[in-house]
This record gives sequence, C-alpha cells and structure tokens, in this order.
Amino acid sequence: MTQAHPNDRLDQFRHETRAWLEQNCPPQMREPMVNEADLFWGGRRAQFTSEPQREWFERMAQRGWTVPEWPTAYGGGGLSRDEARVLREEMARLKCRSPLISFGISMLGPALLRYGSEAQKLEHLPKIARGEIRWCQGYSEPGAGSDLASLRTRAEAVGEHFIVNGSKIWTSYGDKADWIFCLVRTDFAAKKHDGISFVLFDMQSPGVTTTTIRLISGYSPFTQTFFDNVQVPRDNLVGEINQGWTIAKYLLTHERNMIGGMGTQRTRPLHELARETVGLANGRLADSALRTDIARFDMDALAFALTMERVQAQAQTQAGNETGALSSMLKYYGTELNKRRAELAMSIAGSDGLKFTDGAASLAATWLRTRGNSIEGGTSEIQLNIIARQILKLPT
Ligand SMILES: Cc1cc2nc3c(=O)[nH]c(=O)nc-3n(C[C@H](O)[C@H](O)[C@H](O)COP(=O)(O)OP(=O)(O)OC[C@H]3O[C@@H](n4cnc5c(N)ncnc54)[C@H](O)[C@@H]3O)c2cc1C
Repeated sequence: MTQAHPNDRLDQFRHETRAWLEQNCPPQMREPMVNEADLFWGGRRAQFTSEPQREWFERMAQRGWTVPEWPTAYGGGGLSRDEARVLREEMARLKCRSPLISFGISMLGPALLRYGSEAQKLEHLPKIARGEIRWCQGYSEPGAGSDLASLRTRAEAVGEHFIVNGSKIWTSYGDKADWIFCLVRTDFAAKKHDGISFVLFDMQSPGVTTTTIRLISGYSPFTQTFFDNVQVPRDNLVGEINQGWTIAKYLLTHERNMIGGMGTQRTRPLHELARETVGLANGRLADSALRTDIARFDMDALAFALTMERVQAQAQTQAGNETGALSSMLKYYGTELNKRRAELAMSIAGSDGLKFTDGAASLAATWLRTRGNSIEGGTSEIQLNIIARQILKLPT
C-alpha cells in the first residue's frame, strides 16, 4: 500500500479544518474586535459577553484548539507545527477571533512545558487550555523593572512551604487572576541572577492582597500586589531552587513574541476606516498621502507577519525550540508597528479620534494603550540593548 504524501495529508487537514471552521465559527466571532469585552480571558470568575462567544470558545476548547500545538495529554490539540500553521491560516482567512486569550497560554504554558515537572504539567496545563484558571505575572517590583534581577520579594523555605513576603507592581489584571507565576528571591547572598526562584501560587492564598492602579484614561488594568507571609507549598517551585532566572528569561521570550504579534493582530483594516472618513475619488481613497501611508503600513505589516512565521519556523528546527534574542527584535518591531497603526487610525479619524470613552473602546484609548506595548515585557531600550549585544554582537 502506498503512503499518502505529507503535502496530501496537509491538504486534507486544510480541507477538513476549513469546513469545520465554516460550520462552527459563529458569524459574530468573525467580526473585527472592537474592545476588551470581545476578548475572552477565562478564569474562575469568567463571564461570556455573548452566546456566540461562549459557543466559539467551547467548540474550540473541546478540540484542544485553544492551544493547538500542546500535547493532547495536557489538553492541547496535538497538532504538528505545519498543521497549526494551516489552522492559523484558515482562521485568518475566515477572520475568526482567538477563542481564548491568556497569560497561561502565551507565557506560563511554554515555560511549564519546558521546565515544569510532570505533575505540574498535568495539574496546570489542561486548566489553562480549558480557560478554567486565569494567570497573572509577578515579575516587576517598585525597585526592579528593567533591572528585573534586582527583585527583592523573598521566599524562605520553612518545612514543606515557602513563606513569601514582598510586593509586585504593574501586575496586569492582578485583581482578576486566579493564580500568579512569581519570581522570588531565595538566596540573598548569591549574585543577583543566581538567587531567584520561580514559584506558582493561588491568588486566594491568605496574605495576598491587591490594590488597583487607576490610569489617566480611567482604566485600571494593573494592580500592586502584596504578599504578607503567604504560604506556598514547596511543590509549587518550578525547576530548581535559585535557578528561576533561566525560566524567567525563557518565559520572557514567549511574552515578547506575543506582544510583538500584537502588530499583526486582526483589527479593523485602516483602509475601511479611511473610506468612511475621507471617502473615495475615482474608486480610490480621496487623500493620496493617506493612501500612501496606509499602503506602506500594510506592506510592512505583511512583511512583519512573514518574518514572524520565518523566525518561529527556524526556531522549531533548532534544538530547544527557542527564538532567544530574536524575540527582542520581534517585540521591538511589532510594537513600533502597532503604534504606527494607532497613529494612522487617529490621523484618519481627525478630531473624531479625540473622543475619549472610559475603557479601551475609543481610538484615543487604543492609541494610548499602544504606548504601553513598548514598555511591557521589557522596554524598547532594553530590547535594543539585547539586539545590539546578542544579535549584532556590538561591543557594550
Ligand atoms: C501595559 C503594561 C503591562 C505590564 N504588565 C506587567 C505584568 O503583568 N507583570 C509585571 O511583572 N510587570 C508588568 N509590567 C511592567 C513592565 O514590565 C515594566 O514597566 C518594564 O519592565 C519597565 O520597568 P519600569 O517601569 O520599572 O521602568 P524603568 O526600568 O525604571 O525604566 C525607566 C526608563 O529607563 C530606561 N532604561 C532603564 N534601564 C535602561 C538601560 N539599561 N538602558 C537603556 N535604557 C534603560 C527604560 O527604557 C525606561 O525608558 C507592565 C507594564 C506595562 C506598561
């Protein structure tokens, strides 16, 4: 019996996936996202904002397609890299929204797959895949942002527990999250990078409190997070004690890839917005300068999307499946691109763009939020330092 050629199998997979998506992705879930409520983050207190959002999430979760490439044993879809690419392409073709957004998917999951014990993988990954637990990131501290390794939140080993004391800041959605992945200092005598450990704990643990940080926009996506003698089971240490910096850096490469990818996120195309605002002349946008800017943006966005694909594909052919310092390049360019998109949208909208509504729905709020992209996950200056040192090999 002759075996099917890999390309034939992939074509077959594409054919089936396309049919399944067409049948199962509700039309409302193919509309461009307008605001934060269009994203489903999961978690113990999660609420769907519409019936189509619930249907879409449940159908995708049932197939493991919230995390298509994770192994099925951990709640994933078990797809190969090529199959996952086909799924992404077919979702993009139909303009399907992501069914679930979470720091568990984009940050913690990859780190656990690589550094977690089998018990930790089995405990946490399926709950991430099914959107049952929402995670937040406990990295930054009031005295440790760009210089993250200076962090001072301490964890002392006492019997079967660590006792955690200290404070984290800029914890995105710290008040909505169920669990936190947290960097703690477990050795104050060692060199700063060598005394850090990576632990997981429930935000409901006694001694964890959060205070919201209200922004100029009126929006409060952050908390300062306090730990007062929080008991964390020693089993919740990921990897070895004092070896957390390696895990922290690996997780950051995934965070940076994710933030860089925001530059390719599916939002309303600029030319549609422009058509409504400036109108058409002879079938083309009436404003030729704007036409050029939008065309240039669209070409750069397409080139960047292809670059992301290429870097990811290269990473997966290398041992260890790492994008390493290239994630800094993706983050830097992707966030600049996203800022450009928001700037262009503002200039297209003219004075209407200045209308400010509370929350993330208005163009002005979106424009302000894109500024944050070049700070979160490590600032642009830090990414440029990494690119200079590790990719361009420039002297320090
Ligand atoms: C939208 C958003 C979401 C965030 N979410 C989280 C979260 O969920 N969890 C979390 O832990 N943190 C989070 N952060 C915090 C973020 O990681 C830090 O803000 C970031 O690392 C910068 O640290 P900092 O604010 O202390 O600035 P600083 O480190 O004080 O930097 C101030 C300025 O100095 C520059 N600078 C500092 N060092 C250097 C250097 N060596 N070379 C050149 N320039 C330098 C920086 O680029 C920056 O412009 C978030 C931030 C934002 C904006």
